[in-house]
Amino acid sequence: MTTEQVIAMALEVGFDHVGEIDPKDLKFLPEVRDMCSANRCHSYNKSWACPPACGTLEEITERARQYHRGIVIQSTGQMEDDFDVECMMETEKLQKKRFFEIIKLLQKEFPNCLGMSAGTCTLCPKCAYPDEPCRHPELMFPSMEAYGLLVSDACTSAGLEYYYGKNTMTYTSCILLD
Ligand code: SF4
Repeated sequence: MTTEQVIAMALEVGFDHVGEIDPKDLKFLPEVRDMCSANRCHSYNKSWACPPACGTLEEITERARQYHRGIVIQSTGQMEDDFDVECMMETEKLQKKRFFEIIKLLQKEFPNCLGMSAGTCTLCPKCAYPDEPCRHPELMFPSMEAYGLLVSDACTSAGLEYYYGKNTMTYTSCILLD
């Protein structure tokens, strides 16, 4: 499957914006990863998909470095105002739904494709961490930030915007392909 076909598939799944990325352009930054341990998103040490359980930056990025192409995929919501929490939540939900839809499609052609999600894993109502193993390891994808990626830089590398203007909220994920 060509990258053009993958992009067409992503648009068909419903993503609002899709761009091609060369994994060589991704910078895995310790300072981004450090934000996880600062626990700004309140997910640190609460999920198999987040640090420290997802592995050190070195461990987690070693695999990512083996890929040769990829896509950045986005869902953008139009909020009524800056406080339109409903729209933010709906857009995040939509991004996750689309992400798993395309991952499942791509896994047929690329069983080892590497997804990087927008935010922590929310597949289970309550994560099994730390008492039991992850319930869906094949669908558990650490976030772009867990990989030390600055999402805005990844968007730029893919020829996409990070911000689409006043009262918009955009969620971004990435999928690497071999
Ligand atoms: S799939 Fe479930 S158990 Fe695994 S990381 Fe996600 S929420 Fe936790």
